[in-house]
Amino acid sequence: MGGAEISSGETAFSIPVLCYHRFGKNTSQDAYSLDLEEFRRQLEIIREEEFTPITAAGLADGRLDRALLPEKPLLITIDDGYKHFNTTARPLLEEFNFPATLFIYTNFVGARAGFSRSQLRELQSAGFEIGSHSATHPKLTRRPRGETKDQRAERLRQELSESREKLTKWCRGEVISLSYPYGLWDREVAEAARQAGYKLMFTVNPGPNTLETPPERLKRIMILRGTRDSTFRNQLREKPLLFSASMPGWGERAISPVRQMIFTLTPEMLSCIDPASLEARRRSSVVPLEYDAQSGRVIVRFSPPWVRGTDLIILTAQDQEGKNRFKNSRLLIVE
Ligand SMILES: [Zn+2]
Repeated sequence: MGGAEISSGETAFSIPVLCYHRFGKNTSQDAYSLDLEEFRRQLEIIREEEFTPITAAGLADGRLDRALLPEKPLLITIDDGYKHFNTTARPLLEEFNFPATLFIYTNFVGARAGFSRSQLRELQSAGFEIGSHSATHPKLTRRPRGETKDQRAERLRQELSESREKLTKWCRGEVISLSYPYGLWDREVAEAARQAGYKLMFTVNPGPNTLETPPERLKRIMILRGTRDSTFRNQLREKPLLFSASMPGWGERAISPVRQMIFTLTPEMLSCIDPASLEARRRSSVVPLEYDAQSGRVIVRFSPPWVRGTDLIILTAQDQEGKNRFKNSRLLIVE
């Protein structure tokens, strides 16, 4: 694709994954519920920007053989499994001929607002992909006091393996993808997901993916009600801000108090971005950072130190021409 963005063809290949929840005309001011007109405009923008939506299975295949991917792939994913999808978003997706991946938590199947088993099967045969969103939609990274390692392993197995087995049986097709409830994951959760047989695991850490983004921490852009068209378009156009290392490591939990995080930019990034444009945010607040041009290290400092809690760190930069915006993000659990 284009290739003009950054030096290496491989890193220039960015794959946005959009994350939606609910749709409907007469919804309240619920940020997770999009008006259908808003959703239609976003589908139009996806088409205008010449993206080709694919499913998670399509991405899994493309990671093995890039030739299987369209020029500009994009994923539309919808979490939770509200049955109103069939009468709201689905007709629009079908009108645009865009596939989507639906992440379902199995305890919601058969509930009043959830899909029935036969609806899941019908969706799958209509070309929508069914992925898992756990069994009960818990915070998988939560560690209740007194829970042993074995008990935790068993709880994760129930949430991840059993939900996958049920969905596989109900849909009569393989279930290869998972979206972590609330986007919460750590190494232990990722390992449990791998053992449960998932090939691709999705977070809600914003930014685009590349073909090299590790399968246990794929990024997704959460689309909330009232997103401006220009913001939506810019998010589709974002490029990955690539790091060769992060400290604490990806998926690693940190011990309180945390005074800094370090991200090391890849050589391609060093030659392409404008260091003065580097910015770090913890959720929406700007956090001071230092940049060492020699090592490519970006040191994000927390003052006062970060004491307990889970947050998202988002890093952005512009290229030297100010044409492209780069983004990366990660979740950090401080205990
Ligand atoms: Zn959810």
